Amino acid sequence: MVASEVKSADQSLAEYRLRTVRVGVWTSVFVIAAAVAYYVLPGHEPIDQRAYLLVLGIASAGVIAIAALPWRRLMASGRGMTVMYAWSVLDISLITLLIPLTGLQDSPMFFLYAFTTVFFAASYPLGAQVGLTAFTALNYVVLIGMNGWPIGPGELVLRVVFLAALSFMGSLLSLELRRQMRAQEAARSESERRAALLGAVARAGREVSSLETERVLQAVVEAARSLGFEGVNLVVYSDDGTTYRSAHAVGMPAEFTRKMHKSTVGMAGVIKDHPETLSVEDYTSHPNAVPVLLDAGFRSTIASPVWVRGRLSAALVGATTEQRVFTPQDEEAFELLAGAAGRALENARLFEEQYQNIQRLAELDQLKSDFISTVSHELRTPLTAIEGMGLTLEQRWDSLDEDLRKELLGRMNANTEALHRIIGTLLDFSRLEAGRMDVNLEAVMLRPLVDGVISRLRSFFENHDVVVDVTDDLSVRADPVLLERVIENLLSNAAKHTPNGTRIVLAATTLRGFATISVRDNGPGIPISELRYIGERFYRGGDANTRPTRGTGLGLALVREILKLHHSELEVESEIERGSRFAFRLPLAEPATAMPEDERRLASP
Ligand code: ADP
Repeated sequence: MVASEVKSADQSLAEYRLRTVRVGVWTSVFVIAAAVAYYVLPGHEPIDQRAYLLVLGIASAGVIAIAALPWRRLMASGRGMTVMYAWSVLDISLITLLIPLTGLQDSPMFFLYAFTTVFFAASYPLGAQVGLTAFTALNYVVLIGMNGWPIGPGELVLRVVFLAALSFMGSLLSLELRRQMRAQEAARSESERRAALLGAVARAGREVSSLETERVLQAVVEAARSLGFEGVNLVVYSDDGTTYRSAHAVGMPAEFTRKMHKSTVGMAGVIKDHPETLSVEDYTSHPNAVPVLLDAGFRSTIASPVWVRGRLSAALVGATTEQRVFTPQDEEAFELLAGAAGRALENARLFEEQYQNIQRLAELDQLKSDFISTVSHELRTPLTAIEGMGLTLEQRWDSLDEDLRKELLGRMNANTEALHRIIGTLLDFSRLEAGRMDVNLEAVMLRPLVDGVISRLRSFFENHDVVVDVTDDLSVRADPVLLERVIENLLSNAAKHTPNGTRIVLAATTLRGFATISVRDNGPGIPISELRYIGERFYRGGDANTRPTRGTGLGLALVREILKLHHSELEVESEIERGSRFAFRLPLAEPATAMPEDERRLASP
């Protein structure tokens, strides 16, 4: 039985005793009135008037005093029963005094003993009942004895047994009554407790529908606390499940909740190995008990697993400082809370993901709008240059010297090439999107292809130091046109997005039948915040307003798509102030070159 139940059972017994005191007072009033009527009405034995009225006077004063006492307070302080016993002793004594005044062996007052005996049986614990009934019998026997035994022993025994039988019957009835009262009380407190459990679970259910993880955790922990746990801890396991830490806790020592724990420690450790609800009545002797929690006074505990998307993600642990036997209802309520926590965490996570997606879509939308203005700008810049130089040549052909004319024509060609490249990228991209990009895999000699690209992009690398670390005989399986686009994009990016004087290294290494081709630079690097977007279509790093470089934001996206067609992918590594490295793998074309067991540098720098 839980402490609160004991308390309410005690309370209802005290209420019952208060009622018996009231009944006792009224019965005494009626009996005194009847005794007065007996005296007033004719037909009784001669009575010693003074003594009779004195006894009745004392009885009346006693009843008035008893009625005036603050019974509720007396019962609460535990002194109520002592007063009741004193009142009973007084009653028995007064009846014993009345009997010789009203005809001794023939006195009808003997029957008043029956009234007090039944009263004891109804109101007192067994020991007091037996004691007071014995006191009554003793009073009567001594009274009869003192008056020369006017009643024979047979009749005396009969009268005493009559009282004992009354006491026994009354006691039986009152025992049954009290048993029923206790059962009723237990049922009432059990249903109240269940209502409280359900209330707590329902409250938590309402709260945990919130999409904010923090509120959800708090609601679950508060609801668990309202189930009568002084300490509640919702712990979350690490992704690999080897450790856990408190996500939300109340009433737990900070020394424990602040730290990360191994998944072998405490109740959360037990749940990790056996993910089902577990209650421990005697925590002190549990092998997994945590000393800090024992020092905090916890004696019983219960823990439930929290599942998120079918994975054991967390555990809900409750602890009490009082040793407690957990009922199946307690375990069920705890399990319901843990279930609610799991569902809510799942909802919160889904919401978070959806929110991120929406944010991302909005960003993409923005990127697309930026793209249109970027592309228009990218097309217009070389066009304006071509237009300007063309006009100059047309109008001032004769006045320009040969060298200047050649320079202008050269610049016009460079701009035309830039235009060509942008339009080429756009066309490639639209072909890729439409799934119309043909891939013709063949053995491609890497070195000549790289050299060709570098020579075509010569103008890009005027102020950069480009190193090619690829052996002449390295041959990979790829589409030569598409591979050229990849290398061209990576190299031009390394030149475009780094300052003059930057060193760019294009290298290739082989390992187990594959070549890893990388382009790295010792430029400014890419901030971590941008790194995850690199390679997404339309994404251009830096600030749109102050960006020093030109481009469409499609270069790396195109690279990724092309690599995907080769069943490869782009790896990006970058460190601020140290530079970036873009790499991908392609299968070697000739098995012979794949022979070396370990990584082999294909050319020395
Ligand atoms: P674009 O070059 O047209 O901007 P890309 O898709 O080729 O588009 O590149 C996307 C972004 O990645 C660039 O805008 C730039 O911010 C970043 N980036 C690419 N390569 C490098 C590099 N080598 N160093 C620093 N930043 C780079």
